Amino acid sequence: MKLRLAGITRESVVDGPGIRAVVFAQGCPHRCKGCHNPETHDTRGGRTLSLDEVIEQVRLTPIVRGVTFSGGEPFMQARGFALLGRRMKHMGLDVITYTGYTWEALTSTGVPSGWGELLDVTDLLVDGPFAEGEKDTGIAFRGSRNQRIIDVRESLRLGTVVDVSERYDQVACEALAGRP
Ligand code: SF4
Repeated sequence: MKLRLAGITRESVVDGPGIRAVVFAQGCPHRCKGCHNPETHDTRGGRTLSLDEVIEQVRLTPIVRGVTFSGGEPFMQARGFALLGRRMKHMGLDVITYTGYTWEALTSTGVPSGWGELLDVTDLLVDGPFAEGEKDTGIAFRGSRNQRIIDVRESLRLGTVVDVSERYDQVACEALAGRP
């Protein structure tokens, strides 16, 4: 199994809690106005890597607490990212997935089976397209206020979306206030 990727960042503190590796999917159908990663849109761009090659990169930084799948749109390669996520979890890492789809779209009937597999290995989902009119630099881990940080396990267990954005916004707010 190979993934088409725009790149890998081995250490990030802005793509979820703690120090994280970030795997950027290549290819995105959403075309959000004001997107910060337009070079990731073309499904023929980037480069292909095997899951082993991606894991090798992530292992180079043993201090990471988790891995973030960003993009691009990871759900365009859902099955591959689901397999990668499973292997990351076996390594003791938590998994965050960014998507331009909403939770409601991802969990509606008739979606590709890989979408459910990727949700199953995701701990936190950051959902929804970037909306330029709702851009907010003061919120945690998202670009615009329409996007939510969703506790996937609890949402699947309860059958309703569990939005934990405020919890992380509070931490981000306190961190900003504590800056000299
Ligand atoms: S979903 Fe993300 S990568 Fe895709 S167009 Fe929107 S902001 Fe850009």
